[in-house]
Amino acid sequence: MTQSTPQTMGQQFGRRSWAEPWKIKMVEPLRMVSRAEREKALAEAGYNTFLLRSEAVYIDLLTDSGTSAMSDRQWAGMMLGDEAYAGSRNFYNLENAIQTYYGYRHIVPTHQGRGAEHLLSQTTIKPGQYVPGNMYFTTTRLHQEMAGGIFVDVIIDEAHDPANLHPFKGNVDLGKVEALIQEKGAANIAYISLAGTVNMAGGQPVSMQNVRELRALCDRHGIKIYLDATRMAENAYFIQEREPGYADKSIAAIVLEFCSYTHGGWMSAKKDSLVNIGGWLAVNDWDLFEELRNLVVVFEGLHTYGGLAGRDMEAMAIGTAESMQDDHIRARIGQVRYLGQLLTDWGIPIVQPVGGHAIFVDARRFYPHIPQGEFPAQTLAAQLYLDSGIRSMERGVVSAGRNAKTGDHYYPKLELTRLTIPRRVYTQAHMDVVAESLKIVYDNREQTRGLRMVYEPKYLRFFQARFEPLG
Ligand SMILES: *Cc1c(COP(=O)(O)O)cnc(C)c1O
Repeated sequence: MTQSTPQTMGQQFGRRSWAEPWKIKMVEPLRMVSRAEREKALAEAGYNTFLLRSEAVYIDLLTDSGTSAMSDRQWAGMMLGDEAYAGSRNFYNLENAIQTYYGYRHIVPTHQGRGAEHLLSQTTIKPGQYVPGNMYFTTTRLHQEMAGGIFVDVIIDEAHDPANLHPFKGNVDLGKVEALIQEKGAANIAYISLAGTVNMAGGQPVSMQNVRELRALCDRHGIKIYLDATRMAENAYFIQEREPGYADKSIAAIVLEFCSYTHGGWMSAKKDSLVNIGGWLAVNDWDLFEELRNLVVVFEGLHTYGGLAGRDMEAMAIGTAESMQDDHIRARIGQVRYLGQLLTDWGIPIVQPVGGHAIFVDARRFYPHIPQGEFPAQTLAAQLYLDSGIRSMERGVVSAGRNAKTGDHYYPKLELTRLTIPRRVYTQAHMDVVAESLKIVYDNREQTRGLRMVYEPKYLRFFQARFEPLG
């Protein structure tokens, strides 16, 4: 596979590096936090980085969700908010942007991605139906389960191996889908829940060939495909880089073609679309749209605002267009890859190939002496914060939750700590500091013990669970 290094990434475009296609106009001061303060803050947060106050954090890599820096154009758009209850001008701008860039016909705005997941799950899943997906995502699977659906992972096996260099580790295993259809019958499958890129696999992409073949298979059985388009622009970068025939196609053209193989999609605009809040759900089928447009009024707000202010929709419309610019995506993924390269050079085990939005440290190999029941990835997130005030998050057994029927932990093969890079926020020097701190934590790994969970909430436990150090 052809994967450029941070150094060669620019060269293929006739430039020296992936330098950001913007300059900084406004800054937000960061606060350095003392070791004593960090120890106190972490204990108060129950060793869960989600429970830290942001004021106690130096470099915040908890998530790329809603943490992007907006452009001057987006901020200018905020001043053009048409705050009418119904029929806001900004809604039509947003609708136009989604139709232009994703190609879907009918648009329902929602306050964020999970609002869209809720509406889609309630309208398209009958209790007892199966929902195959290319690996689960936390909120997606929960909404599918709350609608009575049964999630089935149909991602290729390579996705579960953090060292496997498959170029499209987000791909659906068509054989697994076929087998499920044979076993359960097409009528018992609600739809295919396809995500590009796959967050939980390490931000790994789906190839164009895979979605094309998936569509052909689904057409034979009358099954619909809905796309979690949250990081589809980033997915398109990998197609451009790695898939024959796409090197000369723009990110926008690739996204449009990919979406054309699906029947609809939803978005957490807090990711790719460069806004602090917002989302949408879009489908091509008019009847389903009518149902969704009716239901959104109950849970989010009128169908021309869906829980958002007019100004938020305007920023989202502008951010949608900015997210499709080739220069933007190249710099975005270039920065993530730069951090990945530093860690790889120092022998720190991370998910390879480096994905789109984050570095995922392989906590199993980082702490081979800590059993999964003692939460190695949660431990690593805590240790990194203690060392430097850098905030990361767990993507392992805590995030996976429990099987509702048996009550046992799900033990995912991937036990990862995620360093998520906000878009257009941190500099290359910040990436250096992150790598240096991880190196220190790695050098001290043998002395590190795991954690015990002392409080566990019922839903999406990783957000609010509390821990204590063992030993
Ligand atoms: C964040 C995310 C969601 C949920 O969106 P929210 O805006 O956080 O509600 C869904 N799918 C994926 C892949 C995500 O990363």
